[in-house]
Formats: sequence, structure tokens, C-alpha cells
Amino acid sequence: MKMSAIFFLIQSCILFIFLFCNSVESSRGDRSSKFHHCINTCFKGCDLDEYPGKLPIYLTLFWWDCPDECKYQCMHNITQSDVRNNRPVKQYYGKWPFVRFLGIQEPASVLFSIFNAIGHLLGWKMLRSTVPNSNYSMHLVWKANLVVSLNAWFWSTVFHTRDFNWTEKMDYFCATSLVMFSFFTCLMRFIGLENKCSCFLIGLLLCSIYSTHVFYLGFINFDYGYNMKFNVTIGVINLLSWLSWCLTHYKQQPYVWKCAFVSFGVFFLLGLELGDFPPILWTFDAHSLWHLGTSPLCYFWYSFLADDAKHQLSMQKKRRKSS
Ligand SMILES: [Zn+2]
Repeated sequence: MKMSAIFFLIQSCILFIFLFCNSVESSRGDRSSKFHHCINTCFKGCDLDEYPGKLPIYLTLFWWDCPDECKYQCMHNITQSDVRNNRPVKQYYGKWPFVRFLGIQEPASVLFSIFNAIGHLLGWKMLRSTVPNSNYSMHLVWKANLVVSLNAWFWSTVFHTRDFNWTEKMDYFCATSLVMFSFFTCLMRFIGLENKCSCFLIGLLLCSIYSTHVFYLGFINFDYGYNMKFNVTIGVINLLSWLSWCLTHYKQQPYVWKCAFVSFGVFFLLGLELGDFPPILWTFDAHSLWHLGTSPLCYFWYSFLADDAKHQLSMQKKRRKSS
């Protein structure tokens, strides 16, 4: 009965999110004739060295060129006219019209991505001061998790600073690596590192799935729909795995509420991310708030890891005494 309920829950979640993903609208703004007319007129100015003219250094430092400037100015001119005439705000090239800051395209998402990286660094510092013992078996796994996480938040910062084809791919690939590594750590926690052969085989299997996914998107076809479905599926599997770990351990280890709290927190924040809305003050959109929300959870996750490490070490001691 319990198993069938869990399967039903998994299937409903995946189905719901797949349907939701498929109903996401493509950008109307950059396809509109008004926008095309505006940028074509502006591009002529680029050729003649007229409007928009020479760009300031802080823009060229972040790889803004004349055509980029045309797109930015046209996007905001049309958006202002839409707001004045009570027309809905449109997305451009898959994004809302953000006001840039010193050449940074999405300042809020950049700042909040950095917050997440800081959350991991402070959390790791706290974990190391609580459990300095390198005999702790999961030490290396969590250290690798820190590296994977910092790498993902680095590329998130780069992508939100400037949206190029390659920065977007790096952000997507590294975000996927973060979720897949979290799933790997959950499986390690389930089966225990003593079972070296199983750990190796699981690692190999997940590595192969990840490499195939990246190879397909990077070299064969960058399919947004497939990428989103893959990430959501892995995300849901990861979330349910951690929650089932919590369910099977909460009686002996009361601190697992921290793990459940982070898992549910991420799930609810993901709901915010899917409910897209035009940016507040042209700065704070749903995606940036999703990044803001996950940053304290990053730090809190290490509080769970510290308790879990203390528990595992005390169990090790007990086993040694009894043997
Ligand atoms: Zn992001």
C-alpha cells in the first residue's frame, strides 16, 4: 500500500511538471514586428557609427557590442510603451526585460548566486569546525559535493552576468551536475561507503548518464524541452530519495528533520521558479527569488551534515567498543 502510494505520487509529480513545462510560452517580444523594425533601424546606426554610438567601458568590459545595445534599448523602449498602454509585458529571447547594472544583465540573480556560493563556503567551514575528524567516512563525498556546488554557482553567476550560448550551456550542465551529485550522495548515505563495489558501480552509472546527457545537448541537439524534462525528473527523483531516507531514519536520528526541511524548502521554491512573472522593479523575477531562497538552505544543509557526521562517528565508536 505504501509503495503504491509513493509510486502514484512520483508519477503525478512528473506528469504534472511535464505538462507544465510543455505549456511554457516562447518569447513573443523578439518575434514582434515592432522589435524587428526597431533593431533593424538601430543596426544601420551601428554601421554608420551613429546611434547608439560608442559604448562606455563598463559595457564593453562585459562584452556588450553595438547590436547587443540595440536589442537592449529596443526591448526597453517597447516595454515602456507596453506599460504605458496597459499591454502585458513581453519576454525577449526567453527572458524578461531586466534593467542591467554596470553591464551585468541580471544583477539580482548574480548577487543571489554569489549568496549560494557563500552559503556553501560558510556551511563547509561550520562542518569542518564541528567535525574536524578526517576519519569520518563521508568527508571526501561532502568535500566533492562542495566543489561541484561551488562550480555550479560560479557558472550561474557567469550566465546571469552575460547570457551567451556557451554561458547558458555551462549553467545548465553544472546545475544538472549539482542535482545528480546530490542524488549520488543520497545513494551513498543509503548503502554506506563500506560497500565499495556498489558505490563504484552507482558512480559509474550516474557518470555515464550525465556524460551522455551533456554530449547530446552539447554536440548533437540543444533541446530546451528535453533538458528541462531531464532536470526536473532528476530533481524529483533526488528529492524523493532524500525524503525516503528521512522517513526511514527519523525515529533513530531526530535531526533528519533538517534534511526534510531543506528538501521541502527546495520543492516549494521550485514552485516559485515555475510561476514566472515580470521582474519587480525590472530586477527581481521569480528565478532570482528562487536563487535567493536557496541560499540560506545551502548553509542549513551543512547543519544537517554536521549532526549526521556526529551521529555516524558515535555509531562507529559504539561498533568498535562492542567488537
Ligand atoms: Zn539561475
